[in-house]
Amino acid sequence: MTAPYSGRCACGQITLTIAGETLGTRQCWCRQCQKIAAGGPTHNAVFRSEDVEVQGVLATAAWTAASGNTLTFSFCPSCGTQVYGQSSARMHLKTVRFGVIDEPHGLKPQMVIWTADAPEWAVIDPALERFEGQPPNPAPAPKD
Ligand SMILES: [Zn+2]
Ligand SMILES: [Zn+2]
Repeated sequence: MTAPYSGRCACGQITLTIAGETLGTRQCWCRQCQKIAAGGPTHNAVFRSEDVEVQGVLATAAWTAASGNTLTFSFCPSCGTQVYGQSSARMHLKTVRFGVIDEPHGLKPQMVIWTADAPEWAVIDPALERFEGQPPNPAPAPKD
């Protein structure tokens, strides 16, 4: 599959369309992801914020990351499906959860990040590029 992508939460109250291609895909083992993914990693595709259009009203929760940036997680208030995450340092990007994108989307993780936080039983594909923590930013903010 290529763009545009479509998506929906488990209950259908939230739908989305993504007009552009991903800037990169990641499997993330950070502790916050393990909390929202029931103990496993999250799987995410980074898109330009302007390419992601959501229909329906999202609920949000925010954390302060070790970097001092605020991470905001948007999810369906009715069924709890995680839709995307966003960092206050990178508002031009939205990190969309694979699970909310309609199949067959053809996306798969290109790298594994925050491996330092992964539990000892985690099985990590040795073919994927690895980062112990945060990887380089896939797309710098446009200069103004
Ligand atoms: Zn829902
Ligand atoms: Zn994470």
